[in-house]
Amino acid sequence: MRKLIEKIEQYAKENNIPIMLPDGILFLTNYIKENNIKSILEIGTAIGYSSIRMALIDKDIHITTIERDEGRYKEALKNIKLFNLENQIDVIFEDAFNVELSDKYDLIFIDAAKSQSIKFFEKFKFNLNNNGTIVTDNINFHGLTKEKVIKNRNTRQLVRKIKEYVEFLENNQEFTTYFVEDGDGISISKRIKSVS
Ligand code: SAM
Repeated sequence: MRKLIEKIEQYAKENNIPIMLPDGILFLTNYIKENNIKSILEIGTAIGYSSIRMALIDKDIHITTIERDEGRYKEALKNIKLFNLENQIDVIFEDAFNVELSDKYDLIFIDAAKSQSIKFFEKFKFNLNNNGTIVTDNINFHGLTKEKVIKNRNTRQLVRKIKEYVEFLENNQEFTTYFVEDGDGISISKRIKSVS
């Protein structure tokens, strides 16, 4: 099992496919264990690495994951089959903005286009169970959100978007969020319960 996981990690490295960093996936899988999470919606499958790691925690965990890149989607299906996890992981090949889901999930993991996190959050929060959690990866964006000067224009814009997302979370009236530095920086948001 460990060898197969390492193979996916190696493939991702060689093909420049961004997958969760070791500390990030460790945080996420521990969070899932500690909170007894059973249903997960993931935005951004890539080649199935994080889905597989989450599904391997427990046979009762079910994951729906969305990927818009055909090559990565096919690679994800292949990897999921290698682990015999087809019963636990459903991969939807589609742009997440075109996907309408009626199910509710214990955890929603946003790990797709980093400039669109606010939109993903606003769209999929309706699919969250009452006591559910929205987790987002790459809050530090390789440490760049802490840099004062960023030369590349596109990177600068992307970092600005990520900072806007952090502000959106910090000022959110509906959700309360805390941040951890694990991996590439992760946010953990939970709905604020009404007092009535
Ligand atoms: N969660 C994966 C892991 O850790 O193994 C990594 C996901 S990777 C950081 C982000 C993926 O999101 C890319 O493969 C990209 O094609 C996909 N993506 C970006 N925007 C998307 C969208 N609007 N709908 C579906 N997939 C999207």
